[in-house]
Amino acid sequence: MLSNSTQHLSDSGLRDRFHRRSLEHQRPLSTVTMAFTVVAFLCFVGARNLVGGPAAPLAYRLTCALVLALLVLAIPRARTIWLFGAIGIVYLQVLVAGMALNVAGVEAPLLWVLPALAVIPICAAPLWLTPTHFFTGTVLFYAAALALLSGEPRPHDVNVVVWMWIAAIGMPTSAVFHFGFYRFRRNHFLLESQLAQLAATDPLTGLQNRRAFVKQAERRLDGGAPDERISAIFLDIDSFKSLNDRFGHAVGDHALYQVAQVLMEETSAEDSVSRIGGEEFAVLRRDGLAGALHLAERLRGAIAAIERPDGHLTASFGVAEHRRGESIMVLLDRADEALLRAKHSGRNRVCAERALPLEALQLLGDDFAADGEVRRHRWEEYYLTSHFQPLYSLSHQKQVGFEALLRGEQDDGTLVPPVVLFAPKPSSDEGALDRASHAVHLGNARKSLPADAWLFLNILPATFIAEGYADQLAKIVRAVGLDPERVILEILESHGGSVDDMSRAAALYREHGFLIAVDDFGAGQSNLDRLLRIRPDIVKLDGELIRATSHGTEQPILPKLVSLLHQAGMLVVVEGVETTEELILAVESNVDFAQGYLLGRPAAEIAPPESVHRRIDDAFDVIAQGRAHQHALFESEVEPYRVGLRAAADSLLAGVVMDDAFAALSRFERCISCFILDDSGRQVGPEVPGPAHNSKGASLHPVANPRDARWDHRPYFRNAVLLPGVAVASNPYLSLASGRPCVAVTLAVQFAAGRSVIGVELDWSALGLPWPAGD
Ligand code: GH3
Ligand code: MG
Ligand code: MG
Repeated sequence: MLSNSTQHLSDSGLRDRFHRRSLEHQRPLSTVTMAFTVVAFLCFVGARNLVGGPAAPLAYRLTCALVLALLVLAIPRARTIWLFGAIGIVYLQVLVAGMALNVAGVEAPLLWVLPALAVIPICAAPLWLTPTHFFTGTVLFYAAALALLSGEPRPHDVNVVVWMWIAAIGMPTSAVFHFGFYRFRRNHFLLESQLAQLAATDPLTGLQNRRAFVKQAERRLDGGAPDERISAIFLDIDSFKSLNDRFGHAVGDHALYQVAQVLMEETSAEDSVSRIGGEEFAVLRRDGLAGALHLAERLRGAIAAIERPDGHLTASFGVAEHRRGESIMVLLDRADEALLRAKHSGRNRVCAERALPLEALQLLGDDFAADGEVRRHRWEEYYLTSHFQPLYSLSHQKQVGFEALLRGEQDDGTLVPPVVLFAPKPSSDEGALDRASHAVHLGNARKSLPADAWLFLNILPATFIAEGYADQLAKIVRAVGLDPERVILEILESHGGSVDDMSRAAALYREHGFLIAVDDFGAGQSNLDRLLRIRPDIVKLDGELIRATSHGTEQPILPKLVSLLHQAGMLVVVEGVETTEELILAVESNVDFAQGYLLGRPAAEIAPPESVHRRIDDAFDVIAQGRAHQHALFESEVEPYRVGLRAAADSLLAGVVMDDAFAALSRFERCISCFILDDSGRQVGPEVPGPAHNSKGASLHPVANPRDARWDHRPYFRNAVLLPGVAVASNPYLSLASGRPCVAVTLAVQFAAGRSVIGVELDWSALGLPWPAGD
């Protein structure tokens, strides 16, 4: 193709480029030459004035000089080849007219103008851009000269001689000058274009080389409209070295050529395609990231269809979209980073750029300030979006907040499974995803979050303690029109982070008004010390706790944990409520808030509450009924022991010895032992064992002997003392003597020697025994 074009300017585009190039070359030369001619013309006018005699008015001749000067000034402004030629033609016509006026009345006018007639066309010849200009300008020049200068009757021989010289020397010389110079210019131009093309082309594939690609890309990025989207695809052939090593460089070269062909076929003329170096190629395309990813996927498929001696060629791809103000080198770097991830994650795949963490946040921040809603945010191969799950206050039976949960979507809106979205990727930055998720959630919550609801945002400990993040997050929260007081940061407690850093960071977030929650407490490596030092406003209990039961009994431990957390000043959320039983347990345990499928599933929209309050109400009813029933059952179990204990007290008061006084009571089925404690809670005398007494309390053997212990701190002792004369029953507790859950019935008795507390310990470990409801 190149060698053809050195001979002919057959291609009209090439000819146009040549003429434009010529125009730029000739313009200064023409301007100077024509300016000198104006000066020469003025000298000519001065010479004519010295001769005297009848002449045309001087003003006419000076007017011609003025017009010539104006035409000279027009030359630098001529933008088109046509205008450039027209100025030359008009200039020569005015010049001939001026000469004719100047020589009017002289003896031999042709002799006056002979040098001009011969020299001007010769000097002008090389300056005409095209042969058409040359012919038209020259013919009109001589035609005007003939018409204006040979009218007067003069001695014939002089006129003939003059025209003969012009025809014999002036015309041929100017033709030779013009065409000689034209040809020289043309060849120079073609050589120059050929060199430029060679310098910009990769000889093996015929694609643009790196230098030309970068230069063209710079022009495109600089000259693009502000809203124009441009993306770069960077690809590298996989395991190319092995192809060279095993089958020789010629096979490698052919593969490179085939890949280049695929790139040319699959891209449009508007795309820039380049072999950047070695077995790396780049495509620059006017399109957004999604479009570029599609193209990359197509290219990947097409390359994977190319055969190599040991199978098929494959290539890995990185794709990045140009960001405003970014240079081509930075864009390629980002695409290269994605390419590296594609290589690391197994080759023969396309990876999208990674959003720069802070930049992503800032970008979204800007978007939020504007009116447009940001629902999805591009993240590697997916879009990030939010789902919201409601939290209910059990006492108020209403929604109090929503937890924002991160979801990934494909281009077509299908959800990406969380395991894929959160799968650790090579060189991927978990913190960046975390930060981007906050921006996405805030952007999505801004419109639909009810005015009196909290937004729960999950945050990784590493993000939580990141320098400056408290300020940044507060800024974004305010930018979307929310108040930090409505945002609760849920720290994923089980994900590590030093406690000191966490509690320091918590103070910074609190200064902005954020509330702090600790997530998943009770799961994994939850640690009470961490909890007490971070001092969250809210603790979210892991859903498993709701199903957990305390060892050896069928009784759930949740109520106790909740009461502990309440005493530490923390509100409690229980997650994972899926069944009515679990909801009942949550209510029964005095949990403040609950969350779970039973109350509402995560959804893309923040939904108004449905009939959930009725469910909670029902749970309260069930508990109220259950509590009364439970109380009656418990009382009926304990009552015989109360009666027995009162009878034993009467016997003791009447002076009966301990063994006899307790004889009847100690034969009751559940009786472990009967005992007497003195005023300070120490046991008086040996205990009287009952049928449930089991001396093989093996594991607790060191504490099995109650003789020397003090029991005045126990509720059963204190309650008895508070209500003297009343037989009180304790809640079930773990007996140190037996290692089993027990209930104690105790009674404070005033003897002559002082006050004592007598009691009976009942074995409460059998299945189905009622527990008193609540604490
Ligand atoms: P990876 O999958 O990680 O990209 O492995 P690779 O073997 O493709 O990558 P590596 O960079 O190790 O090898 C690139 C090879 O490409 C090394 C070099 O010899 C070869 N190469 C570079 N330019 C040419 C060329 O013009 N022709 C041929 N035949 N080989 C080339
Ligand atoms: Mg390679
Ligand atoms: Mg390489």
